[in-house]
Amino acid sequence: MIVRGGTVVLPGAVPVPADIAVEDGVIAAIGPDLEPSGEDLDARGLHVLPGAVDAHVHFNEPGRADWEGWGSGTAALAAGGATACVEMPLNAHPPTVDGEAFDRKVEAALGSAKVDFALWGGLVPGPLDRLDELAERGVAGFKAFMCDTGIDDFDAVDDDQLGAGMERAAALGLPVAVHAERPAGLRPMDGGDWRAWVASRPPAAELAAIERAIELAEQAACALHVVHVSTGAGVAAVAAARERGADVTCETCPHYLALTEDDLERLGTLAKCAPPLRPAAECEALWEHLARGRIALVASDHSPCPRAMKAGGFAAAWGGIAGAETTVALLLSEGAARGLPLAPLADLVTGAPARRLRLPKGRLEAGAGADLALLELGGEQPLGEERLHDRHRANPFAGRPLRARVVRTLLRGRTVFHDGGVAPGAHGRLLTPHERIRA
Ligand SMILES: [Zn+2]
Repeated sequence: MIVRGGTVVLPGAVPVPADIAVEDGVIAAIGPDLEPSGEDLDARGLHVLPGAVDAHVHFNEPGRADWEGWGSGTAALAAGGATACVEMPLNAHPPTVDGEAFDRKVEAALGSAKVDFALWGGLVPGPLDRLDELAERGVAGFKAFMCDTGIDDFDAVDDDQLGAGMERAAALGLPVAVHAERPAGLRPMDGGDWRAWVASRPPAAELAAIERAIELAEQAACALHVVHVSTGAGVAAVAAARERGADVTCETCPHYLALTEDDLERLGTLAKCAPPLRPAAECEALWEHLARGRIALVASDHSPCPRAMKAGGFAAAWGGIAGAETTVALLLSEGAARGLPLAPLADLVTGAPARRLRLPKGRLEAGAGADLALLELGGEQPLGEERLHDRHRANPFAGRPLRARVVRTLLRGRTVFHDGGVAPGAHGRLLTPHERIRA
Protein backbone atom coordinates (compact mmCIF):
# COMPACT_ATOMS: atom_id res chain seq x y z
CA MET A 1 0.00 0.00 0.00
CA ILE A 2 1.09 3.55 -0.71
CA VAL A 3 -0.15 6.41 1.46
CA ARG A 4 0.00 8.97 -1.31
CA GLY A 5 0.80 12.66 -1.27
CA GLY A 6 0.28 13.56 2.38
CA THR A 7 2.38 16.21 4.09
CA VAL A 8 4.69 14.13 6.25
CA VAL A 9 5.54 15.53 9.68
CA LEU A 10 8.97 14.40 10.89
CA PRO A 11 10.68 15.70 14.03
CA GLY A 12 13.20 18.43 13.38
CA ALA A 13 12.12 18.91 9.79
CA VAL A 14 9.81 21.19 7.83
CA PRO A 15 6.78 19.08 6.83
CA VAL A 16 6.91 18.18 3.14
CA PRO A 17 4.66 16.17 0.80
CA ALA A 18 5.82 12.57 0.41
CA ASP A 19 4.51 9.08 -0.17
CA ILE A 20 4.77 6.30 2.40
CA ALA A 21 5.03 2.68 1.25
CA VAL A 22 3.64 0.12 3.71
CA GLU A 23 4.42 -3.58 3.46
CA ASP A 24 3.21 -6.15 5.98
CA GLY A 25 2.35 -3.45 8.49
CA VAL A 26 5.80 -1.89 8.32
CA ILE A 27 6.97 1.33 6.65
CA ALA A 28 9.04 0.18 3.67
CA ALA A 29 9.96 3.60 2.28
CA ILE A 30 9.21 7.31 2.54
CA GLY A 31 9.86 9.56 -0.43
CA PRO A 32 8.45 11.44 -3.40
CA ASP A 33 6.58 9.62 -6.18
CA LEU A 34 6.95 6.05 -4.93
CA GLU A 35 6.05 3.31 -7.42
CA PRO A 36 2.45 2.04 -7.05
CA SER A 37 2.13 -1.25 -5.17
CA GLY A 38 -1.36 -2.56 -4.53
CA GLU A 39 -3.75 -0.15 -2.85
CA ASP A 40 -3.23 3.61 -3.04
CA LEU A 41 -4.50 5.58 -0.09
CA ASP A 42 -5.04 9.21 -1.08
CA ALA A 43 -3.62 11.51 1.61
CA ARG A 44 -3.39 14.67 -0.49
CA GLY A 45 -4.41 17.69 1.53
CA LEU A 46 -3.78 15.83 4.79
CA HIS A 47 -0.88 15.88 7.25
CA VAL A 48 0.64 12.53 8.17
CA LEU A 49 1.96 12.10 11.72
CA PRO A 50 3.29 9.05 13.51
CA GLY A 51 0.44 7.48 15.47
CA ALA A 52 0.21 9.26 18.81
CA VAL A 53 1.32 7.64 22.07
CA ASP A 54 -0.74 8.65 25.11
CA ALA A 55 1.55 8.04 28.07
CA HIS A 56 -1.14 8.55 30.71
CA VAL A 57 -4.62 7.00 30.56
CA HIS A 58 -6.91 5.26 33.05
CA PHE A 59 -9.20 2.61 31.56
CA ASN A 60 -10.28 1.11 34.90
CA GLU A 61 -10.74 -2.44 33.63
CA PRO A 62 -10.87 -4.99 35.21
CA GLY A 63 -12.96 -3.98 38.17
CA ARG A 64 -14.40 -0.60 37.22
CA ALA A 65 -15.23 -1.04 33.56
CA ASP A 66 -18.38 1.02 34.08
CA TRP A 67 -16.03 4.03 34.44
CA GLU A 68 -14.39 3.39 31.06
CA GLY A 69 -13.09 0.07 29.64
CA TRP A 70 -10.41 -1.03 27.21
CA GLY A 71 -12.75 -1.21 24.22
CA SER A 72 -14.26 2.26 24.54
CA GLY A 73 -11.10 3.91 25.88
CA THR A 74 -8.92 2.69 23.05
CA ALA A 75 -11.65 3.48 20.50
CA ALA A 76 -11.42 7.08 21.71
CA LEU A 77 -7.64 6.96 21.33
CA ALA A 78 -7.85 5.57 17.79
CA ALA A 79 -10.38 8.26 16.86
CA GLY A 80 -7.97 10.81 18.27
CA GLY A 81 -5.02 9.65 16.17
CA ALA A 82 -3.30 7.48 18.78
CA THR A 83 -1.95 4.01 18.10
CA ALA A 84 -0.58 3.31 21.57
CA CYS A 85 -1.09 4.18 25.19
CA VAL A 86 0.50 3.54 28.53
CA GLU A 87 -2.22 2.69 31.04
CA MET A 88 -2.09 3.56 34.73
CA PRO A 89 -2.15 1.02 37.58
CA LEU A 90 -5.21 2.68 39.15
CA ASN A 91 -8.27 2.86 39.05
CA ALA A 92 -8.77 -0.71 37.89
CA HIS A 93 -9.43 -3.33 40.54
CA PRO A 94 -7.21 -5.04 41.39
CA PRO A 95 -4.76 -2.18 40.83
CA THR A 96 -1.66 -3.19 38.86
CA VAL A 97 0.68 -3.60 41.83
CA ASP A 98 1.90 -7.18 41.32
CA GLY A 99 2.40 -9.80 38.65
CA GLU A 100 -1.01 -11.37 39.03
CA ALA A 101 -2.81 -8.04 38.68
CA PHE A 102 -0.68 -7.26 35.61
CA ASP A 103 -1.76 -10.54 34.02
CA ARG A 104 -5.41 -9.85 34.77
CA LYS A 105 -5.22 -6.43 33.19
CA VAL A 106 -3.50 -7.71 30.06
CA GLU A 107 -6.18 -10.38 29.80
CA ALA A 108 -8.87 -7.68 29.97
CA ALA A 109 -7.09 -5.58 27.36
CA LEU A 110 -6.24 -8.23 24.77
CA GLY A 111 -9.29 -8.88 22.66
CA SER A 112 -10.77 -5.43 23.22
CA ALA A 113 -7.90 -2.96 22.75
CA LYS A 114 -8.09 -1.07 19.45
CA VAL A 115 -4.52 0.21 19.79
CA ASP A 116 -1.29 -1.10 21.26
CA PHE A 117 -0.69 -0.64 24.94
CA ALA A 118 1.89 -0.81 27.67
CA LEU A 119 1.18 -0.75 31.40
CA TRP A 120 2.48 1.34 34.26
CA GLY A 121 2.92 -0.73 37.41
CA GLY A 122 1.99 0.69 40.80
CA LEU A 123 4.53 1.66 43.46
CA VAL A 124 2.57 1.50 46.73
CA PRO A 125 3.50 0.75 50.34
CA GLY A 126 4.39 -2.92 50.80
CA PRO A 127 6.87 -5.53 49.58
CA LEU A 128 9.18 -4.23 46.87
CA ASP A 129 9.69 -7.59 45.17
CA ARG A 130 6.38 -6.90 43.47
CA LEU A 131 8.24 -4.35 41.36
CA ASP A 132 10.48 -7.17 40.12
CA GLU A 133 7.41 -9.21 39.15
CA LEU A 134 6.06 -6.23 37.22
CA ALA A 135 9.40 -5.51 35.54
CA GLU A 136 9.70 -9.13 34.43
CA ARG A 137 6.34 -8.83 32.73
CA GLY A 138 7.36 -5.63 30.96
CA VAL A 139 5.86 -2.57 32.68
CA ALA A 140 6.98 0.75 31.23
CA GLY A 141 7.69 2.11 34.70
CA PHE A 142 6.18 2.56 38.14
CA LYS A 143 3.60 5.13 39.21
CA ALA A 144 3.45 6.47 42.75
CA PHE A 145 1.27 9.00 44.52
CA MET A 146 2.81 11.46 46.96
CA CYS A 147 -0.68 12.37 48.27
CA ASP A 148 -3.97 10.58 48.81
CA THR A 149 -5.28 9.01 45.59
CA GLY A 150 -8.99 9.42 46.26
CA ILE A 151 -9.50 5.67 45.88
CA ASP A 152 -9.14 3.12 48.67
CA ASP A 153 -7.27 0.33 46.85
CA PHE A 154 -4.19 2.36 45.87
CA ASP A 155 -2.26 4.00 48.69
CA ALA A 156 0.13 6.93 48.61
CA VAL A 157 3.79 6.44 49.53
CA ASP A 158 5.71 8.48 52.09
CA ASP A 159 9.21 9.76 51.35
CA ASP A 160 10.94 6.65 52.72
CA GLN A 161 8.75 4.33 50.68
CA LEU A 162 9.18 6.45 47.56
CA GLY A 163 12.96 6.56 47.99
CA ALA A 164 13.19 2.79 48.49
CA GLY A 165 10.93 2.20 45.50
CA MET A 166 13.11 4.46 43.39
CA GLU A 167 16.21 2.50 44.36
CA ARG A 168 14.52 -0.72 43.30
CA ALA A 169 13.23 0.85 40.06
CA ALA A 170 16.72 2.16 39.26
CA ALA A 171 18.14 -1.35 39.74
CA LEU A 172 15.47 -2.63 37.37
CA GLY A 173 16.28 0.12 34.85
CA LEU A 174 12.80 1.60 34.89
CA PRO A 175 11.49 5.13 35.57
CA VAL A 176 9.24 6.16 38.42
CA ALA A 177 6.35 8.50 37.66
CA VAL A 178 4.91 10.59 40.45
CA HIS A 179 1.69 12.41 41.13
CA ALA A 180 3.33 15.36 42.86
CA GLU A 181 1.32 17.17 45.50
CA ARG A 182 2.70 17.43 49.04
CA PRO A 183 0.06 16.40 51.62
CA ALA A 184 1.32 19.03 54.07
CA GLY A 185 0.66 21.70 51.45
CA LEU A 186 -2.95 20.68 50.86
CA ARG A 187 -5.75 22.31 52.86
CA PRO A 188 -9.23 21.20 53.82
CA MET A 189 -11.91 22.59 51.51
CA ASP A 190 -13.61 25.67 52.88
CA GLY A 191 -16.97 25.26 51.13
CA GLY A 192 -18.12 23.13 48.20
CA ASP A 193 -17.64 25.29 45.12
CA TRP A 194 -14.83 25.37 42.58
CA ARG A 195 -13.00 28.17 44.39
CA ALA A 196 -12.80 26.04 47.51
CA TRP A 197 -11.44 23.13 45.48
CA VAL A 198 -8.78 25.25 43.79
CA ALA A 199 -7.78 26.91 47.08
CA SER A 200 -7.40 23.51 48.76
CA ARG A 201 -4.65 22.43 46.33
CA PRO A 202 -2.30 25.40 45.92
CA PRO A 203 0.63 25.51 43.45
CA ALA A 204 3.09 25.46 46.36
CA ALA A 205 2.00 21.91 47.25
CA GLU A 206 2.89 20.79 43.73
CA LEU A 207 6.24 22.53 43.72
CA ALA A 208 7.24 21.14 47.13
CA ALA A 209 6.42 17.60 46.02
CA ILE A 210 8.31 17.95 42.75
CA GLU A 211 11.37 19.26 44.56
CA ARG A 212 11.26 16.38 47.05
CA ALA A 213 10.74 13.77 44.31
CA ILE A 214 13.73 15.15 42.41
CA GLU A 215 15.90 14.96 45.54
CA LEU A 216 14.90 11.36 46.16
CA ALA A 217 15.39 10.41 42.51
CA GLU A 218 18.85 11.97 42.44
CA GLN A 219 19.81 10.08 45.61
CA ALA A 220 18.57 6.83 44.10
CA ALA A 221 19.94 7.57 40.60
CA CYS A 222 16.44 6.78 39.36
CA ALA A 223 14.77 8.12 36.23
CA LEU A 224 11.87 10.33 37.32
CA HIS A 225 8.85 11.45 35.35
CA VAL A 226 6.50 13.98 36.92
CA VAL A 227 2.99 13.53 35.57
CA HIS A 228 0.43 16.28 34.87
CA VAL A 229 2.46 19.32 35.98
CA SER A 230 0.09 22.29 36.26
CA THR A 231 2.41 25.19 37.06
CA GLY A 232 5.33 27.03 35.50
CA ALA A 233 7.35 26.71 38.70
CA GLY A 234 6.90 22.94 38.62
CA VAL A 235 8.30 22.73 35.09
CA ALA A 236 11.15 25.09 36.03
CA ALA A 237 12.16 22.81 38.92
CA VAL A 238 12.32 19.86 36.53
CA ALA A 239 14.31 21.91 34.00
CA ALA A 240 16.81 22.95 36.69
CA ALA A 241 17.34 19.31 37.69
CA ARG A 242 17.89 18.35 34.06
CA GLU A 243 20.47 21.09 33.72
CA ARG A 244 22.51 19.51 36.49
CA GLY A 245 22.28 16.16 34.75
CA ALA A 246 19.38 14.43 36.51
CA ASP A 247 17.23 12.09 34.44
CA VAL A 248 14.01 13.96 35.18
CA THR A 249 11.17 14.80 32.80
CA CYS A 250 7.66 16.11 33.11
CA GLU A 251 4.44 16.07 31.19
CA THR A 252 1.48 18.39 31.12
CA CYS A 253 -2.04 17.80 29.84
CA PRO A 254 -4.33 19.52 27.34
CA HIS A 255 -6.59 20.72 30.16
CA TYR A 256 -3.79 22.73 31.77
CA LEU A 257 -2.88 24.18 28.38
CA ALA A 258 -6.37 24.96 27.12
CA LEU A 259 -8.47 25.61 30.23
CA THR A 260 -8.02 27.83 33.27
CA GLU A 261 -9.68 27.92 36.67
CA ASP A 262 -12.14 30.50 35.33
CA ASP A 263 -13.57 27.76 33.10
CA LEU A 264 -14.65 25.88 36.23
CA GLU A 265 -17.54 28.33 36.67
CA ARG A 266 -18.97 27.16 33.32
CA LEU A 267 -17.84 23.53 33.28
CA GLY A 268 -18.39 22.64 36.93
CA THR A 269 -17.11 19.28 38.17
CA LEU A 270 -16.69 18.01 34.59
CA ALA A 271 -13.33 19.77 34.78
CA LYS A 272 -12.48 18.80 38.36
CA CYS A 273 -9.02 17.26 38.42
CA ALA A 274 -5.96 17.20 40.67
CA PRO A 275 -3.89 19.29 40.59
CA PRO A 276 -6.75 21.66 39.75
CA LEU A 277 -6.98 23.97 36.76
CA ARG A 278 -4.88 27.06 37.38
CA PRO A 279 -5.09 30.82 36.71
CA ALA A 280 -4.42 32.02 33.15
CA ALA A 281 -0.89 33.11 34.09
CA GLU A 282 0.08 29.49 34.84
CA CYS A 283 -1.37 28.37 31.53
CA GLU A 284 0.77 30.99 29.77
CA ALA A 285 3.84 29.86 31.73
CA LEU A 286 3.27 26.26 30.62
CA TRP A 287 3.09 27.34 26.98
CA GLU A 288 6.29 29.32 27.40
CA HIS A 289 8.08 26.27 28.85
CA LEU A 290 6.60 24.03 26.19
CA ALA A 291 7.85 26.30 23.40
CA ARG A 292 11.32 26.20 24.97
CA GLY A 293 11.39 22.40 25.06
CA ARG A 294 11.15 22.05 28.82
CA ILE A 295 8.07 19.82 28.82
CA ALA A 296 8.98 16.35 27.60
CA LEU A 297 5.54 15.23 26.52
CA VAL A 298 1.84 15.95 26.58
CA ALA A 299 -0.59 13.24 27.76
CA SER A 300 -4.32 13.20 28.30
CA ASP A 301 -4.57 11.83 31.85
CA HIS A 302 -7.87 10.43 30.59
CA SER A 303 -9.62 9.57 33.84
CA PRO A 304 -13.36 9.27 33.32
CA CYS A 305 -16.15 8.10 35.60
CA PRO A 306 -19.89 7.54 35.32
CA ARG A 307 -21.66 10.90 34.99
CA ALA A 308 -23.42 10.37 38.31
CA MET A 309 -20.05 10.46 40.06
CA LYS A 310 -19.57 14.02 38.87
CA ALA A 311 -22.60 15.08 40.96
CA GLY A 312 -22.62 16.48 44.48
CA GLY A 313 -20.43 19.54 44.07
CA PHE A 314 -16.68 19.92 44.10
CA ALA A 315 -16.14 18.24 47.46
CA ALA A 316 -17.90 15.00 46.53
CA ALA A 317 -17.39 14.64 42.76
CA TRP A 318 -14.78 12.33 41.25
CA GLY A 319 -11.71 14.23 40.11
CA GLY A 320 -10.67 13.32 36.60
CA ILE A 321 -10.97 14.65 33.06
CA ALA A 322 -11.90 12.55 30.04
CA GLY A 323 -9.86 13.66 27.06
CA ALA A 324 -8.26 10.64 25.38
CA GLU A 325 -9.80 11.51 22.03
CA THR A 326 -8.89 15.17 21.92
CA THR A 327 -5.23 15.40 22.97
CA VAL A 328 -3.66 15.59 19.51
CA ALA A 329 -6.30 17.85 17.96
CA LEU A 330 -6.25 20.24 20.92
CA LEU A 331 -2.48 20.49 21.13
CA LEU A 332 -2.04 21.11 17.41
CA SER A 333 -4.97 23.49 17.33
CA GLU A 334 -3.95 25.58 20.35
CA GLY A 335 -0.28 25.43 19.37
CA ALA A 336 -1.04 26.68 15.86
CA ALA A 337 -3.07 29.55 17.33
CA ARG A 338 0.06 30.51 19.26
CA GLY A 339 2.24 30.32 16.16
CA LEU A 340 4.26 27.30 17.25
CA PRO A 341 5.74 25.09 14.51
CA LEU A 342 3.96 21.83 13.78
CA ALA A 343 6.78 19.26 13.94
CA PRO A 344 7.92 19.84 17.55
CA LEU A 345 4.30 20.09 18.71
CA ALA A 346 3.47 16.76 17.07
CA ASP A 347 6.56 15.17 18.61
CA LEU A 348 5.23 15.92 22.12
CA VAL A 349 2.41 13.41 21.60
CA THR A 350 4.13 10.93 19.27
CA GLY A 351 7.88 10.35 19.30
CA ALA A 352 8.68 11.98 22.63
CA PRO A 353 6.54 9.75 24.88
CA ALA A 354 7.76 6.67 23.01
CA ARG A 355 11.39 7.67 23.50
CA ARG A 356 10.94 8.50 27.17
CA LEU A 357 9.36 5.12 27.91
CA ARG A 358 11.47 3.22 25.34
CA LEU A 359 8.49 1.91 23.43
CA PRO A 360 8.76 0.85 19.77
CA LYS A 361 6.36 3.55 18.60
CA GLY A 362 6.13 7.12 17.35
CA ARG A 363 8.61 6.88 14.47
CA LEU A 364 8.01 7.67 10.83
CA GLU A 365 10.89 5.91 9.13
CA ALA A 366 11.62 2.85 7.04
CA GLY A 367 11.52 -0.26 9.22
CA ALA A 368 9.15 1.19 11.83
CA GLY A 369 5.61 -0.09 12.28
CA ALA A 370 3.17 1.71 9.98
CA ASP A 371 1.34 3.60 12.72
CA LEU A 372 0.00 6.71 11.05
CA ALA A 373 -2.42 9.49 11.90
CA LEU A 374 -3.84 11.45 8.98
CA LEU A 375 -5.10 14.88 9.95
CA GLU A 376 -6.87 17.75 8.31
CA LEU A 377 -5.37 20.99 9.58
CA GLY A 378 -6.83 24.46 9.21
CA GLY A 379 -10.43 25.55 9.12
CA GLU A 380 -12.39 25.44 12.34
CA GLN A 381 -14.82 22.79 13.43
CA PRO A 382 -16.54 22.57 16.80
CA LEU A 383 -15.88 19.37 18.72
CA GLY A 384 -19.19 17.49 18.80
CA GLU A 385 -19.80 15.50 21.97
CA GLU A 386 -22.00 13.05 20.02
CA ARG A 387 -18.99 12.14 17.85
CA LEU A 388 -16.84 11.00 20.78
CA HIS A 389 -16.07 7.33 21.42
CA ASP A 390 -15.26 7.05 25.12
CA ARG A 391 -17.88 5.49 27.36
CA HIS A 392 -19.47 8.59 28.87
CA ARG A 393 -18.61 11.30 26.30
CA ALA A 394 -18.25 13.87 29.05
CA ASN A 395 -15.41 15.88 27.56
CA PRO A 396 -14.89 19.43 28.87
CA PHE A 397 -13.72 20.55 25.43
CA ALA A 398 -17.06 19.74 23.74
CA GLY A 399 -18.23 22.58 21.53
CA ARG A 400 -14.77 24.10 21.26
CA PRO A 401 -13.66 25.08 17.75
CA LEU A 402 -10.64 23.02 16.67
CA ARG A 403 -8.27 23.62 13.78
CA ALA A 404 -7.18 19.99 13.58
CA ARG A 405 -9.27 16.93 12.83
CA VAL A 406 -8.17 13.29 12.68
CA VAL A 407 -9.41 11.76 9.43
CA ARG A 408 -7.82 8.32 9.57
CA THR A 409 -5.65 6.27 11.93
CA LEU A 410 -3.60 3.27 10.83
CA LEU A 411 -2.26 0.71 13.31
CA ARG A 412 0.53 -1.33 11.74
CA GLY A 413 -0.92 -0.56 8.30
CA ARG A 414 -4.49 -1.43 9.24
CA THR A 415 -7.17 1.29 9.34
CA VAL A 416 -8.56 1.42 12.87
CA PHE A 417 -10.40 4.73 12.46
CA HIS A 418 -11.76 6.46 9.40
CA ASP A 419 -14.41 9.09 8.67
CA GLY A 420 -15.80 9.22 12.18
CA GLY A 421 -16.02 5.45 12.63
CA VAL A 422 -13.83 3.06 14.62
CA ALA A 423 -13.20 -0.21 12.76
CA PRO A 424 -14.54 -3.44 14.29
CA GLY A 425 -12.01 -5.87 15.71
CA ALA A 426 -9.39 -5.36 18.37
CA HIS A 427 -5.80 -5.71 17.28
CA GLY A 428 -3.98 -4.01 20.13
CA ARG A 429 -0.86 -5.74 21.42
CA LEU A 430 1.06 -5.47 24.65
CA LEU A 431 4.16 -3.31 24.27
CA THR A 432 7.16 -3.59 26.51
CA PRO A 433 10.21 -1.31 26.76
CA HIS A 434 13.49 -1.98 24.96
CA GLU A 435 11.77 -2.66 21.64
CA ARG A 436 10.48 -6.03 22.78
CA ILE A 437 6.94 -6.77 21.59
CA ARG A 438 4.80 -9.59 22.91
CA ALA A 439 1.74 -10.61 20.91
ZN1 LIG B 1 -3.78 10.05 36.03
